[in-house]
Amino acid sequence: MKHIDVLIIGGGPIGIACGIEAKKAGLSYLIIEKGCLVNSLYHYPINMQFFSSSERLELDDIPFISAENKPRRKEALEYYRRVTHLHQLSIHLFETVLGVHKQAEGHFEIETSKDRYNATHVIVATGFYDFPNLLNIPGENLPKVSHYYNDPHYYAHMEVVVVGASNSSVDAALECYRKGAKVTMIVRDSAISSHVKYWVKPDIENRIAEGAIQVYYNSQLTAINPATVTLEQQGKFITLSNDFVLALTGYRPDFNFLRQLGITNQNEVDLLPTFNAETMETNISNLYLAGVVCGGLNTHTWFIENSRVHAQLIIRHITQR
Ligand code: FAD
Repeated sequence: MKHIDVLIIGGGPIGIACGIEAKKAGLSYLIIEKGCLVNSLYHYPINMQFFSSSERLELDDIPFISAENKPRRKEALEYYRRVTHLHQLSIHLFETVLGVHKQAEGHFEIETSKDRYNATHVIVATGFYDFPNLLNIPGENLPKVSHYYNDPHYYAHMEVVVVGASNSSVDAALECYRKGAKVTMIVRDSAISSHVKYWVKPDIENRIAEGAIQVYYNSQLTAINPATVTLEQQGKFITLSNDFVLALTGYRPDFNFLRQLGITNQNEVDLLPTFNAETMETNISNLYLAGVVCGGLNTHTWFIENSRVHAQLIIRHITQR
């Protein structure tokens, strides 16, 4: 079995950043990614525009040039592919890490869908995009319900309910409306989220104000049926005719995977994993967290912009030891 210094789980932007830093430090390393390169970004909505400007998404100071100030998904895919190629990073795609077992001698044995590896250090950079926050209501498993949104054309001329009021929900609502869908938003709070991109927020508020997009504030869905949905608004139940539900209520890290690895939580309220903020090392020696997986249920606290630095913190800790 081949032995490597650092095994990185996840080929997202932060896993790539970790690979670059490990390579620059002269460590042997391998990134293992269960899907395609930057798999989460690949599955983002087809027209998605980042809220960050492109220089804030750069790795290793390699310029990210985009047509507009805020890049699009397609440009980000191209950028991270070019960065990976430029550094000739060692990465296995379409290989899933199934388990990480710490051996008595101190190193880790890593089991994947294709092979087994030995590593002195493991970095978990698995993100959060594979596990949607569920509504846990009857009908959520119907084929007309999706927790991911991709392309507005699919919803043309149909009655679409969008659950949520964050960036993802607002983008989906506006795009579907502009492709001729009849859009209704179901919003838990009393307003559109203050975190919505500043150049998009007036657009959604004006569409709501003019009645082009219908909204139910202080509301939640209670049931989904093949041809209708039922919502509750301050004690009142309302049933609407409906073709599709986009339940864009956020995502969460794979808590089972973190538990299997033996990573404990700092608290049980927001399931924040245990790690040292200066080194990113978890409660298990030589096992590190990087990127948005660090946030527990507070996934909005970490993003590419502010978690790129995790790569340097980790590799500095490894090399100084
Ligand atoms: P991810 O990009 O999620 O990468 C994790 C990778 O790990 C995935 O490719 C996954 O397939 C892989 N993986 C998971 N489990 C395994 C396993 N067991 N074995 C092997 N591989 C595994 N951030 C910004 O900074 N600016 C923005 O403007 C911005 N806009 C966003 C818009 C949307 C719609 C969304 C959803 C997010 C946005 N973010 C933005 C957040 C940003 O995309 C994430 O913070 C970023 O993807 C984090 O990178 P990561 O490498 O930590 O995780």
